[in-house]
Amino acid sequence: MPCPARHPGERSTPASHSLLEHPGDLAATALQPHVPARRAALGAAGLSPSRAEGSAARSGPHGSPRGAPLSVPAGGSGPGAERRLVSQRLATDVLVVGGGPAGSAAAGELAARGHRVLLAEASRGPRHRVCGEFLSAEALPLLEQLGALPAAWVAAPALLERAVFTTPSGRKLEVKLPELPSGAGGALGLSRRLLDETLLKAAALRGVQVLRNTRFVALRRDACGTAAGATLRTAEGTLAVDAALVIGADGRNSAVARDAGLDRPARGNLHCAIKVHFDAGAGFDGLERRVEIHLFPGGYVGMQPVEGGRINVSAVIEARLARRLGGGSLAILMRAASGNPAARLRLREARPAGAPVSLYPLERRRWASLSDGLLLVGDAAEVVPPFSGDGIAAALYSGILAARTAHTALETGDVTAGGLSGYREWRRRQLAPPLAVSGLLEHLLYRPTLAGALLPVLQRTPAVPQFLLRSTRLQLRGGTWPDTPRHR
Ligand SMILES: Cc1cc2nc3c(=O)[nH]c(=O)nc-3n(C[C@H](O)[C@H](O)[C@H](O)COP(=O)(O)OP(=O)(O)OC[C@H]3O[C@@H](n4cnc5c(N)ncnc54)[C@H](O)[C@@H]3O)c2cc1C
Repeated sequence: MPCPARHPGERSTPASHSLLEHPGDLAATALQPHVPARRAALGAAGLSPSRAEGSAARSGPHGSPRGAPLSVPAGGSGPGAERRLVSQRLATDVLVVGGGPAGSAAAGELAARGHRVLLAEASRGPRHRVCGEFLSAEALPLLEQLGALPAAWVAAPALLERAVFTTPSGRKLEVKLPELPSGAGGALGLSRRLLDETLLKAAALRGVQVLRNTRFVALRRDACGTAAGATLRTAEGTLAVDAALVIGADGRNSAVARDAGLDRPARGNLHCAIKVHFDAGAGFDGLERRVEIHLFPGGYVGMQPVEGGRINVSAVIEARLARRLGGGSLAILMRAASGNPAARLRLREARPAGAPVSLYPLERRRWASLSDGLLLVGDAAEVVPPFSGDGIAAALYSGILAARTAHTALETGDVTAGGLSGYREWRRRQLAPPLAVSGLLEHLLYRPTLAGALLPVLQRTPAVPQFLLRSTRLQLRGGTWPDTPRHR
């Protein structure tokens, strides 16, 4: 007999809070039965951007020794480790794993449509992410839709208008960045530490219950094998969440995708990525309002201003080159970047403003973006090539698309792969084409000799590189987003 489709509320057994022992903790506060979900969520993610930055400065990577690896805090360790670990259980309509752009977008949209949404985020608080921090024009209407745009502007992001590409042989291509059809133009430089917290806060304000320092352990499945929640690890112990639908938004190395059997390890020539913030010094003169991408044999390094007078320097480097160069992350980045004279000049006297963060491997592959009771969003569904500068917009957009599909599925009570298949179709039509172009162009970036031959030709025909850059972006039609209604 086929397994029946589940209906909203079917899994809504009352949450068991009797084992909750430490309500003072943020994660625990959000679970207290007498605290309204909205207030509890605010407590968990209700920092203003400036306070978020301040608290991170005390406890974040900038406070740690330069070059030290960043550790991901795990539940059950740290100050609470001596507490007795407990098991808790609760129920919700939707469990979102991961509080990056994709997770916050999906969670906020679903909460705004009246669903009970729990978001589990592994990090304890604001922290740096490996990212070029180039916020494309396409992302801005999405931030507005999610209620995060005003706070992003308050942070005074850097304004970016042009992109400059250089090769090791000294060739150069300068392109005006694609604008919105409205002419609202360009892009912003905004740190992920600030952006991600702003988005989480906006989701919390829309009613999402945010659990920090809470890590996905494994999917829970019903008798039919359908995803029906997850086991999470918190500072207090284990939390079993029953959910009608799970959304995996835990980034490129998604544990949710792995557990669901949707992940394929990448093979071939793997890359790592390193990001460092530098103080804006003399070496970065002339970088105002532009992003530079300097190619070197074995990768490329991007540079651009972000808020607060800092310069984001992010490199994508062949893993075998990084191994050969040796040393810590900062040393590898500096040595690799010195393969391009323009980058070498920029970084000659640059002073790091904090510790580097790194990522390996960049490449991941997926079988599919959904299965019974489960949707994958953002990088968890498909990794966006870093250079396109549209990964954040794609993550936000996929979260919005997933929320729209999930809403219909929850309303009709069909959360099977068939009931969720509209999401796959949306991805195929709207996300796949720009991702395919980005993937192709990225191959060119990894071949600086070929790029060096092409750049002078492209420089003479500015419409062509503009068209190519535009093709890597999510397509706006008439300045508005297709199929993303503000209201249900
Ligand atoms: C070098 C580099 C440069 C880039 N530059 C740009 C750029 O300039 N502009 C741009 O638009 N895009 C850029 N991108 C792409 C962009 O960073 C990603 O596409 C985007 O971050 C995807 O968002 P996400 O929400 O899907 O995932 P993420 O941002 O990775 O968020 C995942 C979240 O899940 C949490 N998490 C992970 N595991 C667990 C777990 N087990 N349990 C609970 N929570 C978990 C993480 O803490 C994190 O908060 C770049 C990428 C790289 C690698």
